[in-house]
Amino acid sequence: AARLNRELEETNRGVVALYSELDQKAEQLRSASDMKSRFLSHMSHEFRTPLNSILALSRLLADGVDGELNREQQRQVEYIRRSAQGLLDMVNDLLDLAKVEAGKLDIRPTTFTVQELFAGLRGSLKPLLVNPAVDLLFDDPAGLPEVRADEQKLAQVLRNLISNALKFTQQGHVRVGARHDTAAGRIVFTVEDTGIGIAPEHLDTIFEEFEQVQGALQRGGTGLGLPLSRRLAQLMGGDVTVRSTPGAGSTFELFLPVRYGSFAAPPAQAEGA
Ligand code: ADP
Repeated sequence: AARLNRELEETNRGVVALYSELDQKAEQLRSASDMKSRFLSHMSHEFRTPLNSILALSRLLADGVDGELNREQQRQVEYIRRSAQGLLDMVNDLLDLAKVEAGKLDIRPTTFTVQELFAGLRGSLKPLLVNPAVDLLFDDPAGLPEVRADEQKLAQVLRNLISNALKFTQQGHVRVGARHDTAAGRIVFTVEDTGIGIAPEHLDTIFEEFEQVQGALQRGGTGLGLPLSRRLAQLMGGDVTVRSTPGAGSTFELFLPVRYGSFAAPPAQAEGA
């Protein structure tokens, strides 16, 4: 019995030592993750100021303050402007992601109609409508209830889904719709396109940071849009999902509780999937 006791005690000590080691490791991980968030947020802020100057100055240059630029110079200035804008987009996405991860992105809910939301989107997306072979269509959202959510973040997610759809569609349309899923107490926004589609093996990975399907890089973008969109949607109590037929098109769905803070059934459950 004495030996058994000793062995038990030893095992006990081993378990305690293991626990404290695990505790230490967890603490190390927490502080590493904190550091990563702080580093990201600091760098992003530091990057934004010079980028904004580059953008503003290249716009001035392009407008030709002092005499005209020749064609080649115009092309180069436009290249500078686009590169700076791309970097700024990436920095902003990184900053938002860091904030979400650090739990520092607040949801500021207001009440608004889907009509108002769509009208704002229509306006801000105009500069992206460069391909006359693709129509951007908004379904009439009449009859939908007022939504209580963070309108700015919701618009950010939808703008991202729509600009992706436009980017990956050569011809046809991008259609934005919304319906009320009364049973689940949520609004389902859809962004459907007739673009290149997404292979089944990529349907999950595109929601991970820096994941782009091969060939996507040439179209611009950072590989941060979808992960950020999904995090933002989840922060508002919703989610983003996708289904797609390669070569035919994709449909992204954004689920959102009609009223922020109220319960909405998770997509799979409500669909009976
Ligand atoms: P990116 O900045 O590259 O658009 P995202 O995170 O928004 O980053 O998207 C990740 C990848 O998912 C894209 O690079 C592309 O390969 C794929 N993707 C996203 N939306 C679509 C779409 N509507 N049609 C086809 N592929 C898409």
